[in-house]
Amino acid sequence: TAMYAAKRAGRGRYQLFTAELDTRARDAELRRAVENNELVVHFQPAADFAEDRVVAVEALVRWNHPQRGLLMPDAFIDLAEETGAIVGVGEWVLREACRQAAEWRATIPAAADILLSVNLSPQQAAQTGLVEIVRGILADTGFPAKRLILELTESVVLQPDEATVARLTALREMGIRIAVDDFGTGYAALSYLRRLPVSILKIDRSFVTGIDEDPKAYAIAEAVVRLGHAFGMHVVAEGIETIAQTRRLLEMGCYLGQGFLFHRPQSGEAIAALLRDAGTP
Ligand code: C2E
Ligand code: CA
Ligand code: CA
Ligand code: CA
Repeated sequence: TAMYAAKRAGRGRYQLFTAELDTRARDAELRRAVENNELVVHFQPAADFAEDRVVAVEALVRWNHPQRGLLMPDAFIDLAEETGAIVGVGEWVLREACRQAAEWRATIPAAADILLSVNLSPQQAAQTGLVEIVRGILADTGFPAKRLILELTESVVLQPDEATVARLTALREMGIRIAVDDFGTGYAALSYLRRLPVSILKIDRSFVTGIDEDPKAYAIAEAVVRLGHAFGMHVVAEGIETIAQTRRLLEMGCYLGQGFLFHRPQSGEAIAALLRDAGTP
């Protein structure tokens, strides 16, 4: 059995080794993908469903993999976050999304007031040069800071260090809005909200999903809407799939949302067509 245990340990080490090799290979592949322009940005409109109007679009990254086809973020974002590749990916997404949105603003009348939302990973929020990078991208693309929203997950806002608070404050002072993504899935982030320049709360899909059947999901969503409004924030519901959910949200005073009921994420060209149609009655 000692022999067997030794063999098993050896195999364990070997598996660890291949796992690490695999991580490194996948990391290198993703970094190459950024350089080879294999990443694509899709956009999901966010609607004011009381007025039936698109108010914002959220940039969502995809990887057009030469062998595996179009990959969704859950196939590569976690690894990218782990290895740090997310910093390059996130910067590329911000630049590409601002470039596209600036083009829509310049060519489509109905796009003039559109807000652009871009996800900012925890690693990016912690990046020393973040403010300068964002400023540079806005200058290069001509997209106005006042039209940009950066979405942070609760894990970042939960315990922001001084430097992060300073970075977010600097971005806010440039006119950029900060949104808290997947709100409600973290722990008691509430006290931290007082310290951060947050303009938007996005209620996580898990609460919206149960809103018309589960009184507890309803109660959480309603509490978030009240809290957000009491803080003077906009509250956006995520993952709306049914009209019943829309009714419940309106009932609690929430009229902003994103979801397959309204729009799925789609290519830049499809969004441009959507915005063009919106301008013609
Ligand atoms: P998220 O930021 O919460 O984005 C919303 C996700 O919910 C999107 O998935 C969207 O397709 C999906 N969704 C929207 N409406 C509905 C609905 O009605 N029903 C259902 N079932 N799903 C809906 P996607 O595009 O697969 O993105 C997943 C996550 O990957 C995002 O969640 C975000 O956390 C991350 N992600 C995407 N792009 C980026 C990026 O450029 N940078 C970073 N750091 N993260 C990103
Ligand atoms: Ca988001
Ligand atoms: Ca979200
Ligand atoms: Ca999410």
